[in-house]
Amino acid sequence: MKGTDVVDVVIAGGGIIGLSLALELRLRGLSVTVMERGQAMSSASWAAGGMLAVNDPQNPPALMPLCVRSWDLYASYLDRIESLSGLRVPLRTRRTLQEPKSPRTSNGLATTAEIAELAPGLYPEGHSFEWLEEGSVDPNDLREALPAAVRAAGGKLLETTEVLGVESTVSGVHVQTVRDSISAGMFVNCCGAWAGGQRWGGVPVEPVKGHMANVRCDPNRLRCVVRTPKVYLVPRGDGRVTIGATIEQAGFDEVVYEAQIKELMDSALLLLPEATIPSPIDAWAGLRPGTPDGLPILGAAKFEHCWHATGHYRDGILLAPVTARVMTQAMLGETPDVSLEAFAPTRFES
Ligand SMILES: Cc1cc2nc3c(=O)[nH]c(=O)nc-3n(C[C@H](O)[C@H](O)[C@H](O)COP(=O)(O)OP(=O)(O)OC[C@H]3O[C@@H](n4cnc5c(N)ncnc54)[C@H](O)[C@@H]3O)c2cc1C
Repeated sequence: MKGTDVVDVVIAGGGIIGLSLALELRLRGLSVTVMERGQAMSSASWAAGGMLAVNDPQNPPALMPLCVRSWDLYASYLDRIESLSGLRVPLRTRRTLQEPKSPRTSNGLATTAEIAELAPGLYPEGHSFEWLEEGSVDPNDLREALPAAVRAAGGKLLETTEVLGVESTVSGVHVQTVRDSISAGMFVNCCGAWAGGQRWGGVPVEPVKGHMANVRCDPNRLRCVVRTPKVYLVPRGDGRVTIGATIEQAGFDEVVYEAQIKELMDSALLLLPEATIPSPIDAWAGLRPGTPDGLPILGAAKFEHCWHATGHYRDGILLAPVTARVMTQAMLGETPDVSLEAFAPTRFES
């Protein structure tokens, strides 16, 4: 076998999960190489809305402890990225107007006056909203800052380096790439929507497509996230309002289709009538890593010295800090901050 490098950990996948884990492992003193088959932060982690949706009523209840811990960690996570990379990733919003799942009495709902203060451009007719104390980030900010932070921390990031397979040995793993092979103490599958392949041991991760687009609006007219069952609006503070997202079973198709974008735009413009559609249209699609129970897959794989950190579905931007923390703890034989029982890769075995 060619290649003589030996590192503590090899991570396949340079999205937010692989890179955040690399950062945490580096800070605990381990040598880490991230192998990304394309460009880092160019798949789901770039396509995302960036909402840190801790209290989204669509989240499975079992996700709550991870969500809460991750939100607790977020400020220090962003500070760490900034101090290493020199690039600031600000919270772009700090509050969310959420349409409740089932109708409510006016008790606890946002009042017209409150809505007019943070979202004067919103046309709330026919909707009721409650306030959630949640933030959002612009994934474009992380796209540059996170890889730079990993490199500044001493992590190695190899782009255009596809991992083809992993072989477990008594003392570690051999990781086969398109070019070479590398020996490591441990291997982590952070391949997002592509994490379900047989080469990783066959965890049930499936791609779930989401179309997204930007519209434009005076930044003072919408200063919080708005979420309804049909559409969400995420203002970036600079005139862009990111709208999303469809939920489609479309395999690995990442093509943008006009019909889906039109439907999103129509729903968004009903809520924010003064928004304008840029020309050319600014739209994209990404693949969420979905799992059968909507929960991430975090823990030891069935092959010795191999781990999974994947399946973050609609919440990987929110869950990156806690994933990095609990995976590092588990890999070092420590007790994780949050129990990983509900997220064990073995839960799908019959
Ligand atoms: C439309 C959309 C909207 C979303 N909105 C939000 C949101 O508002 N808030 C939120 O928290 N989350 C959101 N998400 C979810 C979030 O984006 C994902 O959960 C998260 O990005 C997953 O990160 P990841 O690193 O696992 O995957 P990815 O970012 O997809 O990274 C996986 C990487 O692995 C690489 N890879 C695959 N196979 C190999 C291989 N064999 N060798 C090497 N590299 C490989 C891929 O090239 C890719 O770069 C959204 C997702 C989508 C698609």
